[in-house]
Amino acid sequence: MKSKGMSLTQKSNKTAGIIGAGVAGLAASIRLACKGYRVSVFEANSYPGGKLSEIRQGAYRFDAGPSLFTLPEEVDALFRLAGKEPADYFRYQKLEVSCRYFYEDGTRINAFAEPEQFAEELHKKTGVEPQRVMAAFRNSRRLYELLGGLFMHRSLNSWQTWLSPMSFKAYRNLHKMDFFRSMDESNKALLGNEKAVQLFNRYATYNGSSPYKAPATLNIIPWLEMGIGAYFPEGGMYSITQSLWKLAQELGVEFFFNEKAEKIIVKDKKALGLLINGQERYFDAVISNADMVSTYRKLLKEEPAPRRLLNQPKSSSALIFYWGIKKEFPELDLHNIFFSGNYREEFRHIFEEGDIYHDPTIYVNITSKYNPADAPAGAENWFTMINVPNNQGQDWDSLIAGARENILSKLKRITGVRVEDYIESESILDPRLIETKTSSARGALYGNSSNNKYAAFLRHSNKSSRIKDLYFCGGSVHPGGGIPLCLLSAKITAGFLP
Ligand SMILES: Cc1cc2nc3c(=O)[nH]c(=O)nc-3n(C[C@H](O)[C@H](O)[C@H](O)COP(=O)(O)OP(=O)(O)OC[C@H]3O[C@@H](n4cnc5c(N)ncnc54)[C@H](O)[C@@H]3O)c2cc1C
Repeated sequence: MKSKGMSLTQKSNKTAGIIGAGVAGLAASIRLACKGYRVSVFEANSYPGGKLSEIRQGAYRFDAGPSLFTLPEEVDALFRLAGKEPADYFRYQKLEVSCRYFYEDGTRINAFAEPEQFAEELHKKTGVEPQRVMAAFRNSRRLYELLGGLFMHRSLNSWQTWLSPMSFKAYRNLHKMDFFRSMDESNKALLGNEKAVQLFNRYATYNGSSPYKAPATLNIIPWLEMGIGAYFPEGGMYSITQSLWKLAQELGVEFFFNEKAEKIIVKDKKALGLLINGQERYFDAVISNADMVSTYRKLLKEEPAPRRLLNQPKSSSALIFYWGIKKEFPELDLHNIFFSGNYREEFRHIFEEGDIYHDPTIYVNITSKYNPADAPAGAENWFTMINVPNNQGQDWDSLIAGARENILSKLKRITGVRVEDYIESESILDPRLIETKTSSARGALYGNSSNNKYAAFLRHSNKSSRIKDLYFCGGSVHPGGGIPLCLLSAKITAGFLP
């Protein structure tokens, strides 16, 4: 326990060893340092951030993974906890248009941040009644208010959670949580318009699921982006990693890069430390920010594993082409979606066929629109991504070659430009690489998928129930993947430590 009067950076005798410097590992290190722990972070890569890193390609810079930023207050909270002014480390701006949507028939929709303006835009472009769009927003908001506090901010493995007033409110409103319909069924009933339904269905991909399988409870997600807002960090997404890393170092956290944990040392059902480069390092608490599956299969080989959880289907993965494009596209914004003509088929291919549909939904993220230094003058940095199945040993080289052709021909159909004529540099991230670079099982972006009613509520706990002093944080455990949830997982985890 932190002694009375101890300053935030003053150290107690307690030590914590964290495996992984992903965003959740960084956040956990800050929270534990603020509690007075002496914290050491061991990272297999030579850089911090895990999926939240960056790549450089000549004069182009790209955020390597996440591109959409919501709930920035969860980043700010870490600076405040440390007694710092967030804006001295990290700044961001709210987007007026969260995304531009393009359909094959020429329809273009701006997702304005202001719900009424967005409802009006959808009405103008698709004919859907504005009050139906507002009803979909209200539904999302209600889910967020009922479940957000309970599900996102608390451990589900603690009796205090289940006996809290928030839980009793949730029990009384179980019928409103929409567990028994799919997102698609609920969106159809709410909106009754194909294009609007597709747009709202897309939020299933924010945790790597299919809108045709995921429960309508996940319609909580649009409120995060459309109600609370989408943001762009000054300098790009990687500035989240950089600023948290800086703060952690200022708080005295020690980072060890290129240091892969080989084993969690356990004796008499108690975590004692880590084996790294053949050397034993002892800690009072061990926190794994590594994917839950690799934590059990690689680091806890001799311990009983929660097999059902480990074997659950994983979320989708991604195929990304980082393109340096020597042309500017004024009709594009920071976030752009080019929708598939058959969304259901696209998801069937991802989750049932294990391959890539010939007409995929394409996401193009262009940070140089907001951060001109990310591309040379007159050029743009295109992070071009499609959702793909997780890695099950497919013939990725031929899938990638086919997808590249299909993406370019779709972009030509919709923008009228042969984008390939302007690509001056290219690199590729695929599920195999995501798996090797971050140890994520099957290269899944968000751990287990939420393609069934209960999956989102059955993620691995942030505290081991079998091994004392062992904790978990990150996108593969509770409450889930995505930057805000990873930050919250670190908060829940740190809350367990004395
Ligand atoms: C392409 C892509 C797009 C995404 N888009 C978004 C988005 O737009 N918005 C959003 O919010 N989220 C998005 N996400 C999800 C988000 O990136 C992740 O949920 C989040 O970054 C995961 O953070 P994490 O802390 O769980 O761990 P990770 O980032 O997975 O990091 C884990 C770290 O642990 C290290 N590690 C593993 N094993 C060991 C070991 N044995 N020893 C030492 N170190 C080890 C790894 O090297 C890695 O650095 C996206 C992800 C990807 C890949």
